[in-house]
Amino acid sequence: MNPLLETFDITPFSKIKNEDFLPAFKNAIIIAKEEIDTIALNKEAPTFKNTIEALDYSGEQLDRVSSVFFNLNSAETNDEIQKIAQEVSPMLSEFSNDVALNTQLFKRVSTIYNQKNKLTLTVEQQTLLDKKYKGFSRNGANLPEDKKEDLRAIDKELSSLKLTFGENILAETNAYELHLTNIEDVKGLPEGALEAAIQVAQQKGKKGGWVFTLDYPSYIPFMKYADSRELRKKMALAFGARGFQQNDYNNEKIVIKIASLRFKRAQLLGYDTHSHFVLEERMSGSPIKVTSFLNDLLEKAKPVALKEFAELESFAKELHNIDHLEKWDSAYYSEKLKNKLFNLDDEKLKPYFKLDNVIDGVFSIAKKLFGLKFKQVSTIDTYHEDVKTYEVTDNNNNAIAIFYADFHPRKGKRNGAWMTSFKGQKIKNGVNDRPHISNVCNFTKPTDTKPSLLTFNEVTTLFHEFGHGLHGMLANTTYPSLSGTSVYWDFVELPSQVLENWCFEKECLDLFAKHYKTGEVIPMEYVEKIKSSANFQEGMATMRQISFGLLDMSWHANESLETIKNVKAHEKLAFSDTSLFPDVPENCMSVAFSHIFQGGYSSGYYSYKWAEVLDADAFEVFQENGIFNPVTGKAFAEHILSKGGTEHPMTLYKRFRGTEPKPEALLKRAGLLN
Ligand SMILES: [Zn+2]
Repeated sequence: MNPLLETFDITPFSKIKNEDFLPAFKNAIIIAKEEIDTIALNKEAPTFKNTIEALDYSGEQLDRVSSVFFNLNSAETNDEIQKIAQEVSPMLSEFSNDVALNTQLFKRVSTIYNQKNKLTLTVEQQTLLDKKYKGFSRNGANLPEDKKEDLRAIDKELSSLKLTFGENILAETNAYELHLTNIEDVKGLPEGALEAAIQVAQQKGKKGGWVFTLDYPSYIPFMKYADSRELRKKMALAFGARGFQQNDYNNEKIVIKIASLRFKRAQLLGYDTHSHFVLEERMSGSPIKVTSFLNDLLEKAKPVALKEFAELESFAKELHNIDHLEKWDSAYYSEKLKNKLFNLDDEKLKPYFKLDNVIDGVFSIAKKLFGLKFKQVSTIDTYHEDVKTYEVTDNNNNAIAIFYADFHPRKGKRNGAWMTSFKGQKIKNGVNDRPHISNVCNFTKPTDTKPSLLTFNEVTTLFHEFGHGLHGMLANTTYPSLSGTSVYWDFVELPSQVLENWCFEKECLDLFAKHYKTGEVIPMEYVEKIKSSANFQEGMATMRQISFGLLDMSWHANESLETIKNVKAHEKLAFSDTSLFPDVPENCMSVAFSHIFQGGYSSGYYSYKWAEVLDADAFEVFQENGIFNPVTGKAFAEHILSKGGTEHPMTLYKRFRGTEPKPEALLKRAGLLN
């Protein structure tokens, strides 16, 4: 008996054993293949229903098994599950490759696509048709055989280059250590950072002292707190030289090669540049839109950034008689200045943010704005006793979703916080199949004497993930691949980030931010400080993000890429409008810019700022009409949260907002408008 092979609605976690997964995957892949074959080999002429729709509804069991399995691998894993993951991943990519290369299937899809103007389709159906067609064409399905070969060769080379890029950075990161034995050298560092450095020293077999490395948990506190300017410089230079030294791990040639292969790939598929290819499936839509977005923002942020920089410099002068700030001074003096200005530490705020209260807080927002009720139930099966489950209903008591909340760390759960689902939403045969959504976080566990108390950062994290959760729970679309958070990449953070805004509103904090012992509501003075400290050095931070976004575009939206012979020279040019600190000749950013050369952010770095513009602009509607106005809530649910990816996000957004997003609201919120 394998519970994963039976039909189930609520996941029967307690019945599933690790050894059930592999046979379940194998079986589900066989079924999914049969479904694909039935569609591809159908004797009837291709129609939207027998091809596009059938394709989207296929593989249901495989989706269920995969989501249960991979969610467990993130939140409650063990050696056995990890081993199964190793075995299953190639099976899954083989299956999806087979579908992508299925020429009979593509022939049917493109037949329908070519008739699309003659067909009577709903907007959602048009979007689905487009998505299915592009899924093939963007992978070369329209190319002649020899060009297909070229494309596959490029992809193969790219994936190996990306791997080498990452390995080089890792090797360079691991090769460096700063071993300190003199107590004078570690002055300024807090207890926690010192303890960690002692541990690293022990792990590395040192007889005493402290070891600091280029790993973030070691590097960041060092740059923030170490009083020794010489040593900060040493660390910063080592960090910035990764991939840029004349040794086996140099990434200069690799960066140029990756950028030019991406360019070649885009041209092969009929696009001007890699950015044109990527941005076709983004809300922003085109490189020109992205660069003008970044440059507009730069124009506003730059005067503020320059002012903040001058303030920081005079603060450093006053404190330590430093004339010119260097890169290795930035985090250190910023931290000191922030403390001087705000003196707002986590410990003071935490008593007001008891986890249970914060959860009640997000639930009451969901109630006021969207009419959702959360009822905790103990009858729903879970994978761990810490997981809480809720039945979510609307004002008319219709079942809307099931919500899982898994909030405490444990061995077997990865770091961070995320939203996920055990079952997506769809409408099939007239039945609206409601979703099962989960939020997973890592907040301190309560003890017998003390409840779980959150830092303010953790409060915004919880709101953020719950915002993604609402996007999943309120989903109301026909086709599974367009449902919930299945939206363009630079649109997906709108629901999550917009919800964070409520954390800064007194009217909202009054609902839940109550001292866990006295019940006293958080003082106004604290709220003001939270707000102003959130904007501390916002101009400099914005300029930094813009500089990375422009660097990304300089590599990927560049039609004369072949003229770039020198990475550092190219980078200096790209940074010319955005640098605050003097250039460091022995350092280079591009050769260690993993986001865009190893990860999936190429032509996508701008989306951090893009999402902020969206959420600030959208939140302005709530501010204008009252942050708990149910009419605004209804409009947001109707036009954004329920619609998933059924239409272009710009269309959805304009329906809610009336206009395209404008940066003014963000600039105002961030204190960048004068
Ligand atoms: Zn997010």
